[in-house]
Amino acid sequence: MDFSRLLSERSRGIDASGIRRVFDLGAKLKDPINLSIGQPDFPVAEPIKQAAIAHILGNSNGYTVTQGIAPLRNRLARHLADDVGWNVDPHPAAEADHTRPGVLVTSGTSGGLLLSFLALINPGDEVIIPDPYFVMYPHLCRMVGATPVFCDTYPDFQMTAERVAPLITARTKVVLLNTPGNPSGAVASQRQCAELLELCRAKGVLLISDEIYDEFTYPDARVVSEVGDRTPRCPSPARVAGSHDDVLLVRGFGKTYGMTGWRLGYAAGPRRLIEEMSKLQQYTFVCAPSALQWAAAAALDVNMANHIETYRKRRDLVVEMLGKVTELAAPGGAFYAFPRVPEGVAGGSATKFIEKCLEKSVLVIPGNVFSRRDTHFRLSYATDEKNLVRGLEVLVGLLKG
Ligand code: PMP
Repeated sequence: MDFSRLLSERSRGIDASGIRRVFDLGAKLKDPINLSIGQPDFPVAEPIKQAAIAHILGNSNGYTVTQGIAPLRNRLARHLADDVGWNVDPHPAAEADHTRPGVLVTSGTSGGLLLSFLALINPGDEVIIPDPYFVMYPHLCRMVGATPVFCDTYPDFQMTAERVAPLITARTKVVLLNTPGNPSGAVASQRQCAELLELCRAKGVLLISDEIYDEFTYPDARVVSEVGDRTPRCPSPARVAGSHDDVLLVRGFGKTYGMTGWRLGYAAGPRRLIEEMSKLQQYTFVCAPSALQWAAAAALDVNMANHIETYRKRRDLVVEMLGKVTELAAPGGAFYAFPRVPEGVAGGSATKFIEKCLEKSVLVIPGNVFSRRDTHFRLSYATDEKNLVRGLEVLVGLLKG
């Protein structure tokens, strides 16, 4: 077959070389100190595993309704009331109160993002994304024919209204916020979230908030909002009064509960959009994995505070050790840091710096995988403390030049 003719321009336009190059390099190392991992290092909690097993054995293995099983939607509605004060109506379209926000269980956060883009974007539309960005964002834009418009957020990695405002044009459909952020770990302040939402409202642009790392927000970056149960949580545009009409909240279970392979997430927000996304889910993913949806409902009752505290300590260690030798915007969340390669080291080039790291068997990811710049690198502290300290010691030595 002549695949040069058969393959779509859409697919050929996507260059996966950046991240693949890093994986290839890692595969060559015998026993690397791997600080490149994008998923938690703790196992799925026992009650969650047991719920999944019970529902598999109990034959909950068929399709579910496309919106997700009712117990999970109900539990999510309760969770969102506590968390962001939204009065979600968990019922699917026919029975729902159309003035209230809706919720949809998705196949991972990626599933929610893809469906939202499919529902919103026409070819030629523009989507404003942060730079540095989660690797999927520019590709997701191009897959649906949108132009990604990069919002340069260096050096503090905050996608503020001030930085976004000049980028909005008549073609802008969506502003995509990611807080806590991958690859930087930066957390937007509540004020920044509110200002960004105000801008989007004024311009008639939808604000999508990717909050997959919401639970990984450390105490110093949490806020007590006016809404919900007043537990200190991740700042979010969803905490602004009336936001459910103008914000699509996209979240996941994978990172919070260490179950990235289970492919579970949810989207909540404007009823009209959620219905559109449900329709598209029906004809693509059909539904999220059925038995695992039951496990996700159980997961929402599991307290992850101890794990988050472990990650907070690791974050502090990273800041303490690397902050002394290079410029590092203190990460308030997620499990990444995005330090700068100093000018005097490897010519300030992250790609060259990563080669030096590899010579010492440390695996981190160069900034140009996440950015149009190649001045920083991402390290993940989703690894045990011994491994982390070994890796940090090597990095400190290299960064001193
Ligand atoms: N958004 C961000 C910012 C992420 O870092 C990731 C995963 N690395 C995703 C979305 C996708 O998550 P999921 O596995 O739930 O699809």
